[in-house]
Amino acid sequence: MTAPDLRPVHPLRRGHAVLAPACLLMGMLFATGSAPQVLAKDVFLAGAFAADITPKHLPVSVNGGFQDRMVGSVHDRLHARCLVLDDGKTRLALVICDSCLITREIFDAAKRLASKATGIPEDKMLMAATHTHSAPTAMTMAESQPDPAYLKYLEAQIAEGIRRAVDNLAPARIGWGVGREPAHVFNRRWKLKPGVEVLDPFGIPGHVSTNPGFLNPDISEPAGPVDPEIAILSVQSPEGRPIALLANYSLHYVGEVPPLSADYFGQFATRIEQRLGAAAADPPFVGIMSNGTSGDINNRNYGAPAPVRKEPFEQIWHVADRIASAVLVAHKRIVHRDWVSLAMVEKEIELGVRMPDSQEVTRAKEILAKAKGPGLRSQAESYARETLVLSEFPPRVNVKLQAIRIGDLGIASAPCEVFAETGLALKERSALRPAFTIGLANGYNGYLPTPEQHQLGGYETWRARWSYLEVEASTKILATLLELMNQLRP
Ligand SMILES: [Zn+2]
Repeated sequence: MTAPDLRPVHPLRRGHAVLAPACLLMGMLFATGSAPQVLAKDVFLAGAFAADITPKHLPVSVNGGFQDRMVGSVHDRLHARCLVLDDGKTRLALVICDSCLITREIFDAAKRLASKATGIPEDKMLMAATHTHSAPTAMTMAESQPDPAYLKYLEAQIAEGIRRAVDNLAPARIGWGVGREPAHVFNRRWKLKPGVEVLDPFGIPGHVSTNPGFLNPDISEPAGPVDPEIAILSVQSPEGRPIALLANYSLHYVGEVPPLSADYFGQFATRIEQRLGAAAADPPFVGIMSNGTSGDINNRNYGAPAPVRKEPFEQIWHVADRIASAVLVAHKRIVHRDWVSLAMVEKEIELGVRMPDSQEVTRAKEILAKAKGPGLRSQAESYARETLVLSEFPPRVNVKLQAIRIGDLGIASAPCEVFAETGLALKERSALRPAFTIGLANGYNGYLPTPEQHQLGGYETWRARWSYLEVEASTKILATLLELMNQLRP
């Protein structure tokens, strides 16, 4: 679990920063004449790189809404933020991409390319989207279609980011901690008052309203909890120069504004770089904000009056700034260790699809036959189309789940928009502590409401390509993630 007590101190640990590429570094290790395996095992290495994934051609389709949007300008650039860690035995890569949704196919292709270039096994890579709603469509969703040329570019740039992070591998120290920022997470699902029901697009009454509007007289209380924690993984050189900081917060996104933007995820990366005094670091410091379990969480408090309208990016900057401040407070308490062990496992489980029955398909066809266009104008029409698409789905799908151990820290991943209560349950019950979950990872299998939330209804439960897994899926996914965490217990 921890470093051996009697470790030979490698010369690379002392003196000035070593920025040699990994191959050169390993050559230097072997050139010392001591038992090379022992030394290689003993030195903890880290390398980071942010690969640009901003599209080269504009305008581009931007998904995340019912209607497609074509966007022709860039507010801030998009990146695949890569962190490679190596304990001498296990080398693994974490990649967080400024994108709304990325398919299993794209991530798998990027893993193949990256593995070919670096030798890191494909099952030692965690790749996830941040869920910014201001990025090019990378997955067919509602009325949005990706540009195949952009998908190829995205795959290549993710792989290139890992390759460059490997090039930057150098001796490093690593630590982790947990901060808090409760002021920016709100459960967006509100229970309706007794006697109030809302018909869903399928004509079935529900008891929850998602994004109900500020001080809506029909709502009583949030339908679930929030997770105010910010998990932090900090990597620095032996001399204390920041190399990378990965944070994890359970907030869906903030912006959804027309120009392309990495939303608060990207702004956090900039802010934390400034706060850590890492702006001039060489190789460049990489700040990373991953999305936690935010399927039902957003940045709006519907229990209070509507806030005064701000400039589009003002709230993004504000949230990023507050989170960076909270991270900085927690960062001061982090103990960076010279060496920790790494381990990673992944498992695929098969889950059922909530297939529409023949009556539902007939109803959907009737709705679409009456649609006047252009495009699908109403929610009923959009969900009718989703019903027809899902009627062609396989009845069962494979879902990839992962767990990583970094020292005592546990990181779980799921290809879903996981609800906060599932993330909290994982933190509570994980064999590794602290622990957190990265959502939207290694593919996309939609929202993941708990069985209880399915009973309540509301947007996240309505059957579509963004919500189709069986009602018990969250229970099965949580159980598997806990099992994987347990397997990794040192
Ligand atoms: Zn979402």
